[in-house]
Amino acid sequence: MNIKSKTAAYLSLSLLIIILSGILISFAADQYQQQREQMVRTQLQNRGITDQKTLEAMRTTERHKFIPGNQKRHAYEDRPLPIGYGQTISQPYIVAFMTQIIEPKSHYRVLEIGTGSGYQAAVLAEIVDEVYTIEIIEELGNHAIEVLDKLNYNNAHVKIADGYYGWEEHAPFDAIVVTAAAEHIPPPLVKQLKDGGKMIIPVGSPFRVQQLMLVEKKNDQLTTKNLMPVRFVPFRRADD
Ligand code: SAH
Repeated sequence: MNIKSKTAAYLSLSLLIIILSGILISFAADQYQQQREQMVRTQLQNRGITDQKTLEAMRTTERHKFIPGNQKRHAYEDRPLPIGYGQTISQPYIVAFMTQIIEPKSHYRVLEIGTGSGYQAAVLAEIVDEVYTIEIIEELGNHAIEVLDKLNYNNAHVKIADGYYGWEEHAPFDAIVVTAAAEHIPPPLVKQLKDGGKMIIPVGSPFRVQQLMLVEKKNDQLTTKNLMPVRFVPFRRADD
């Protein structure tokens, strides 16, 4: 072979490799897309999640990108998964339930306590204008910042702090989603909830069954409703 035909052979081989890896990558992406569709049908719609915005956000948000490498293949299974530092990403149904219950509107500003992987924040960010989310474990917070940034969730803002105190500068919030189990409803969060706003929070002792509670604020009066028994990781305090 002369130089010219050798170069041509190399070029066509490289082209073939590029095309093949493109096909492989889109095949893998398609696999995840199919798993998400199935998750929405079997885990969410079959169990009474009906809010269209919530279902669409669950269809769009790439859950597997928020999950550590060794767990990725379980991303769309019907269960919580470990995300490191003793913490977990909630089961898809719980994420959808907590999203639906606040009746998210596009103009909403939502506060989340317990960023963890950043997945619940991303689901919310698909629907509402601004999401403010607080994580107490620095490494998890920094990782979530990185993932949310890479996926262009520019409307999700992460702060590393004790979420007990909320995020005063951006209050009041149309809704608050707490994803760690608190022994009581933190008063600063009640204060930062808009009048007419809703907060969803698991309340109870750590490592025991807790109650997922819906807290509504109307004319400065609070009403609370127990929705279902749940098991969340504990709400930690900065001095724990
Ligand atoms: N919403 C998360 C679930 C995370 S689990 C997700 O979608 O992946 C709950 C998270 O709450 C943990 O990461 C834990 O570190 C965090 N957390 C616990 N106490 C906290 C506190 N006081 N302030 C902020 N985050 C807290």
